[in-house]
Amino acid sequence: MKDNHEDALWYWSKEAENAPYMPTFQVRDTESSHGRYAAQTKFIRGIDLVRFHGHACDGLFRGMYAMSQALGVLFPDGIIDRTNLRFLSRNSSCLGDVGAYLTGGRVRFGTQDVRNRPGVWYIVQNMSTGQTVEVVEGEGFFPKGIMDLESRISTLTESEKIQAVSQLKQMQDDWLRMHLFPYRPDDHYPVREIPFTWEAVPYENKGTRTDILYKNVPMGGE
Ligand SMILES: [Zn+2]
Repeated sequence: MKDNHEDALWYWSKEAENAPYMPTFQVRDTESSHGRYAAQTKFIRGIDLVRFHGHACDGLFRGMYAMSQALGVLFPDGIIDRTNLRFLSRNSSCLGDVGAYLTGGRVRFGTQDVRNRPGVWYIVQNMSTGQTVEVVEGEGFFPKGIMDLESRISTLTESEKIQAVSQLKQMQDDWLRMHLFPYRPDDHYPVREIPFTWEAVPYENKGTRTDILYKNVPMGGE
């Protein structure tokens, strides 16, 4: 490990940096493993999600745009309570990571699960009030040609994959630049409140999330 904290941000995207409606998320957490709510909030930006998820892909940005709409309804004051949410998405590497980072939902605490439903969508629930929202990317917004290539890659020969993998990334990046980044999240990610009953996550090693147990204990005792 190099003791050098500077990197060139080669993994970030100039187009994303300049996107006029790129969401930023203000979140509230607790202050320790058994802590109270922190008095201060923090800001999460796209670059933070890339560091967690690994790359600046179309799924990461589509998930961010979708989540900004869902969380905007659940938290009209703009401060997202990451101690109090659970969510569902498709089992996409990218959408699941974005959802977990922004909501605090995780399978191991029974607050994240997946459903076999295509597309970019989230169902996010406030655990205290039961208020639930569903956000779904507009039908046909993401081009069928890109989705076809994504699924066709597995059928190609090893030498065909060399070109196809490059071509796919180029198509995804071009689409982001031309069709996602110039527009507002609410142009393509409509959100609505829905009645919703959360089904327990069938993961038998689930545990207790201790860092939220005492979030409401009054101040004092120092
Ligand atoms: Zn990704």
